[in-house]
Amino acid sequence: MAITAIVPPRRAGGIIPAMICRAFACLLLLACTPRTNTPTASRVPAPGYDGPIIDVHAHVRTSQGDAMTSDQPIGVAELAALERASGVEHAALIVIARAGRIDDTRAANDAVLALARASAGQFFAVPSVHPADGEAAMVELQRLAEAGARMIKLHPNTQGFDVAAPEVAAVVERAATLRLVVLFDGYSPFDADQTGKFLRLAITHPDARIVLAHLGAMRFDEMAVFGLARRFEWYPRNVWFDLSAIASFYGESPYAEQLRWVVRAIGVDRVMFGSDWPVDPPARALAGVRALGFTPDEQRQILHDTAAALLGL
Ligand SMILES: [Zn+2]
Repeated sequence: MAITAIVPPRRAGGIIPAMICRAFACLLLLACTPRTNTPTASRVPAPGYDGPIIDVHAHVRTSQGDAMTSDQPIGVAELAALERASGVEHAALIVIARAGRIDDTRAANDAVLALARASAGQFFAVPSVHPADGEAAMVELQRLAEAGARMIKLHPNTQGFDVAAPEVAAVVERAATLRLVVLFDGYSPFDADQTGKFLRLAITHPDARIVLAHLGAMRFDEMAVFGLARRFEWYPRNVWFDLSAIASFYGESPYAEQLRWVVRAIGVDRVMFGSDWPVDPPARALAGVRALGFTPDEQRQILHDTAAALLGL
């Protein structure tokens, strides 16, 4: 999740994570409690799509990589069971590269590729490079594409880069050439201009396929610009979104209706399901999406079809 990822580890016990944890605990409680009384029409879950699901946003802790949460287990055993229990057929395994540590980056990428290969199709690898690694990052991208990766992860907060930096554009351009989708963390509380930077990156790299995680999170209303842009020929519609962390956060909130409106403005053929494990277990993420009140057909696209088409799954 964007928030925990942006909070330096030494502050992980601070007030913001504590508030977030309480909010999530509250959502979990709501999800588990039978609702006999639904205050508004928007909170009545639509009849559900019950086919296979694709989770495009789950983190894995490899022995080389960092943990997202202090209790995140190494490996995929727990995640594999949770995904299966929630009807998730394919799930991402994300790692995040650190600058200037190309040997560690390669080792973590190899580990995640191996975990995916050993999973009989349950998982697909989402390796990473660091834009500041320059030519070494380019060489790694080539290697990842040859190894069968379909998507890479970049994280402006965790990796400490500006979306408008030329080295970020260089990675996006090379990824486009190699047919690699680029999954960005899509929210920084410290860069108010980030939405415009993503839009410019997309327009100036029409062959790139970009995913913005968390649909902008606390800036989800700004993501409507990608819905407005659909009206213009200059927008190549090359930006996708995932609902990780945001659907579980806003699903039962007064903003649920607005979030659903923004998703429809962007187009459900550009919006995908994600859990952001270990921040949210897949079941909680799924309950969040269900609570947004999409039709069964829209749910099918969000929970499966959009990701299947983008990633060729
Ligand atoms: Zn994440």
